[in-house]
Amino acid sequence: MAKGIDVKDGALCEALGEDSAEIIRVIDAPMEDKDISRELDFETSRVRSCLNELLVKNLVQLNRKRLDTGYCHYRWVRREDKIREYVDTYVSKRIKKLNGMLPDSEDIVFECGCSRIDYGRAIDQGFSCPDCGKTLKQISSGKGSRKIKSELKRLESLRNAS
Ligand SMILES: [Zn+2]
Repeated sequence: MAKGIDVKDGALCEALGEDSAEIIRVIDAPMEDKDISRELDFETSRVRSCLNELLVKNLVQLNRKRLDTGYCHYRWVRREDKIREYVDTYVSKRIKKLNGMLPDSEDIVFECGCSRIDYGRAIDQGFSCPDCGKTLKQISSGKGSRKIKSELKRLESLRNAS
């Protein structure tokens, strides 16, 4: 179980991809490639490619320790503050993008067939269309926005948790 990292597993996985998230979780202490590979049962090449990506993103660092024998040990260390920041930024960006996809108005909308007007104007018109005279019927302003909203809610909870 990962110690210091308090980003929720789901957010970590979404922001970094499953493999990288697994690796981040596993290196709760400095670890060598081969140990990570064994721990996760991943090919070493798979581990390395993830670690390289994480290195480029500044989310891990490679510590070198010279042994008495003259050999060096290279161990991967995760950078918790950077990871947290990265995941936060990812979640915030997603939220911003989804918010931009929502329709401008969350108001209830009315329509008759020839036009579509907002609640305020519908009241003014006594709920009948100023053009065709038909009764204005309430419609759902955004069927698609329901999905976006539930996704937003989920993302907000990830953000609050991290
Ligand atoms: Zn009308």
